[in-house]
Amino acid sequence: MLVGGVGGARFLLGLKAALGLGDHDTEIQDTGTHDITAVVNTGDDIWLHGLRICPDLDTCMYTLGGGIDAERGWGRAGETWVVKAELARYGADPDWFGLGDLDLATHLVRTRMLQAGYPLSAVTAALCDRWRPGVRLLPATDDRCETHVVVAEARSGHQPQARRAMHFQEWWIRHHAQLPAIEFVPVGADTAEPAAGVLDAIAGADAVLLAPSNPVVSIGAVLAVPGIRHALRSAGAQVVGLSPIIGGRAVRGMAEACLAAIGVPCEAGAVAAHYGARSAGGILDGWLVHTGDQATVPGIEVREVPLLMTDLAATAAMARSALELALPR
Ligand code: GDP
Ligand code: CA
Repeated sequence: MLVGGVGGARFLLGLKAALGLGDHDTEIQDTGTHDITAVVNTGDDIWLHGLRICPDLDTCMYTLGGGIDAERGWGRAGETWVVKAELARYGADPDWFGLGDLDLATHLVRTRMLQAGYPLSAVTAALCDRWRPGVRLLPATDDRCETHVVVAEARSGHQPQARRAMHFQEWWIRHHAQLPAIEFVPVGADTAEPAAGVLDAIAGADAVLLAPSNPVVSIGAVLAVPGIRHALRSAGAQVVGLSPIIGGRAVRGMAEACLAAIGVPCEAGAVAAHYGARSAGGILDGWLVHTGDQATVPGIEVREVPLLMTDLAATAAMARSALELALPR
């Protein structure tokens, strides 16, 4: 699976259920039964207050490990915000990012291990020793490759349009995606490499699925790591994606603004065309759209099925539909 944060994590729960991998305390099974590797977006990652924060990896880890705040969709259940309030009293910037007290322990452990020289993939595996997500979580890359957003500044007088770049988190969390985005840039992609295990997982998979995650800043950021797109293109398995766009709208989050910035209409079919058919230089063999969302993309087999992750049963049914499309009959 290629996944982002909330959408990806919820879908992984459904995929686990569909494969009979049970609840969150399951050990990764590597004999006899199915196993899942999730290649997780690291474009959201950021240094804050000297700590390395990996929002999508943590969302997956907490969701699959039973520690997520289910209502918010991110962060820890039962979270408190004592440290955040203290930082604000010091006027310590940035003050717009929610760092909960429980969550901070994860960032402390992660940062300490990174500074001791462990790659992010090894750190993630160590954190997962506690959370036992039942899925192998791999960062897309061990290298620093963060999504920045180029925004247009308001024009004054006859000045040419000014542009400014900021970290994705600043655009999304601080400015609520309200600043008009012009471009998303994976800063560091020129030298980034897939994390250990990523290319082998794609090459060796029986099925490769793209979660209904944000096509630009989640899946797009994974694909921005050199080598991953090629791995998908040359995988022996079928590559099947699920649309995060239903009825011309993102189910939640900022996908609409992201798609607008890259000139892709906010429609299920347009997202599939953006990924492209593998037979025509793209990455998809199959694409699931929500019932009633018609889409025709040459070279991609499209099926209409319910795609709302309303509960675990509905999400597991989505996963089964994706596997049916991906696995040889
Ligand atoms: P983020 O990193 O937390 O933004 O999460 P992701 O990128 O993994 O997922 C965000 C995407 O999930 C959004 O574009 C939503 O449209 C999509 N999404 C959320 N809930 C659902 C759902 O129930 N069904 C579908 N098809 N997409 C969903
Ligand atoms: Ca994310």
